[in-house]
Amino acid sequence: MTTSIAADAIQPLALPSSAPPMRVLAAEDNPVFQSMLRTMLTKWGYLPVIARSGTEAWRVLESEDAPRLAVLDWMMPGMDGVEICRRVRDANREPYIYILLLTARTESQDLIKGMDAGADDYLTKPFNAHELRVRLHAGRRILDLQEELLKAREALREQATHDGLTGLLNRSSILEGLDDEISRAARSNQPVSVIMADLDRFKLVNDTHGHVAGDAVLREAALRLKSSARRYDSVGRYGGEEFLIVLPGCDAAAAVAQAKRMRDAIAATPFLTPSEPLLVTASLGVSCSSHCPPEYLVHQADEALYAAKAGGRNRVVAPFVTPGLTGC
Ligand SMILES: [Mg+2]
Repeated sequence: MTTSIAADAIQPLALPSSAPPMRVLAAEDNPVFQSMLRTMLTKWGYLPVIARSGTEAWRVLESEDAPRLAVLDWMMPGMDGVEICRRVRDANREPYIYILLLTARTESQDLIKGMDAGADDYLTKPFNAHELRVRLHAGRRILDLQEELLKAREALREQATHDGLTGLLNRSSILEGLDDEISRAARSNQPVSVIMADLDRFKLVNDTHGHVAGDAVLREAALRLKSSARRYDSVGRYGGEEFLIVLPGCDAAAAVAQAKRMRDAIAATPFLTPSEPLLVTASLGVSCSSHCPPEYLVHQADEALYAAKAGGRNRVVAPFVTPGLTGC
C-alpha cells in the first residue's frame, strides 16, 4: 500500500501565529500510516494526538478535553472506526467532534455505512496527502462555524435572561429563579426570603441630572446590591429602579440583616456619575416563607417596601418577621 504525497502538500498551512495549534486525533494501528499522519499533521500546523487502537482512540474522544477533529482508521484492533463514530454521535456532546474516516474499502455500501454511523467525511487508502490536508481544512471550517453558532446562541440566551443595562437577571428570569427556589424549599422545608429594593427619589435623578446619570446610578446600584449579596443569592432588575433579590435557605431574621447590609452598601458613599457624585438611598421590603406561592412572597415584599417608603425611605421593613413566618 502506498500513499502519494505531493511536494506542496506538506507545506505548513498559513495559520495565524497567535492561534495555538489545533489538536487532531489520528487513530491508526499501522505504524507506517501512523508516522506518516504524525509528520503530515505536524507540518500542516496541527498538534497530532496519536492512538494506536480503537479502544485508545475512544478513550481520547470520551475524555473531557477531547480533540475536536479526528482522523480514524476504519480497521483497528479493539474497536473499529465505525463503532467509534457511532459512540461519539450517541454521546451527542458539545462541542461537536468532526470525524474523517480512513478506509481501504471502496464499495459504496461500506461508505454509506461509515457516513450513517456519523462520520463527516472519508478518504480511501491509499490517500493523497494534499487531499487529506484540504479535507481537514474543510472540517476545521465547519468547526469554526459551529463555534460561532454556539457563541451566538449563548449571546441570545444571555440577552433573553439578563437586563441589558445592569447585567442583572431580568424580571422574568428572577421570577423563574424564585419559582424554582420555592419548589425546592417546599421539598426540603427550608425558608426562602425575598427582598424588594427600590431606589429613593430616582425620578429626581433623571429629571435633574439626565438619563445618562440615571443609567450610571442604576448600574452602580446593581453592582453594590450584587456585591453585598451572598454567593447563592440571585439579584434581578424587577423593573425601572426596582430590584428583586431571592435568598434561598435564608430565614426572615437573616434576610432582614442582609437587606440592611444592602441598604448600607447603597447609602455608604456617593455614586459617581458623569454629571456629579450623587448620594443615593434605597428602601427595602422583606418577606420570607417556605411554602407560599411566589406571587404572594413578592406581594408581601412589595407591601413592606411601600411601608419603608411611607416610613421615610432609606430603611428596611419586614412586617412579618416572626418565628412562625408569614401565613398565606
Ligand atoms: Mg487499520
